Amino acid sequence: MFIVAAIGFIMGAVIGSFLNVVVWRVPRGMSLVRPPSTCPKCGHRIRPWENIPIISWLCLGGRCSSCHLPISWKYPAGEAAVGLLYALISVRVWQAALPLSTLIGWWWFAGTILSLARIDFEHGIIPNLVTYTSMIAAAVLAVAFPFSRPTVLLTHDPQFGGILIGKFLDKILDSGLPQDLAPRLAGLTDCLTGLLLGALILWIVYYFGGKALALWRKQRNRTDLPEEAIGRGDIKMLAMTGAFLGPDAVIYLLAGGTLLGFIGALIMLRNPKQRKDGTLSQVPFAPFFAIPALIWVAVGNWFYILFRICSNEF
Ligand SMILES: [Zn+2]
Repeated sequence: MFIVAAIGFIMGAVIGSFLNVVVWRVPRGMSLVRPPSTCPKCGHRIRPWENIPIISWLCLGGRCSSCHLPISWKYPAGEAAVGLLYALISVRVWQAALPLSTLIGWWWFAGTILSLARIDFEHGIIPNLVTYTSMIAAAVLAVAFPFSRPTVLLTHDPQFGGILIGKFLDKILDSGLPQDLAPRLAGLTDCLTGLLLGALILWIVYYFGGKALALWRKQRNRTDLPEEAIGRGDIKMLAMTGAFLGPDAVIYLLAGGTLLGFIGALIMLRNPKQRKDGTLSQVPFAPFFAIPALIWVAVGNWFYILFRICSNEF
């Protein structure tokens, strides 16, 4: 098990190094490939040996080798965080004897959600590049490796969801379609149902929330209220989540994220920040959503974990 965790950690640190680049460059509209990484302070080009996750930062004492100015702790911390997540996910997949292909989807999802949380926290946006690319990846994976989705492999296990459309997926799997077609169709169905459900729920919140805010702005003359109840990026983030984890996860994770977000908003709104256009800035949702989402893939269905703790079944 130690080896499984170690391999997961190394993979996570390497991917985390790339995700650091995503978190820095994508919200700034920069290309992910060009130019090569440089020190943001002196422009010194990072050599390959200075780019080994975590280790390089420690060896360089957290300073640029050229200008000796400090390099943010966020880089090694980001790499270590993804490393830890990937290690947990690897151990879980290994212990539950799930197919190894499960790792691809869960690693991708965990890395993406963590990056979105960081971007949303710092910039208040959720980039389309990240959400759309991930939705496509989830659909391709669902067709290529349908049994990498626990929702298709174990249709009625509450640890992975499978309540909403488990029976329907069973019907597809037992439909008598050719052996290599039925699972792919079930995988794609699970992926698209999750995607559409996620998009639909938050689109409804977006639409009616916007109407309510417009009414409020007009009647109470509150021009400082934002125009949108939630960001459009949040809709795509939940759709992407459904694409990877299926429709049940959408409900559980939205509930968990909303609960945490509500508590977070109460704290943050004590001294609300104003944006440049004078409207109040919204509370970023992705950091709160990321917590139940990451628990879901790294440990298990957060709702069942809580339930088992409360009923003393541990
Ligand atoms: Zn430098």
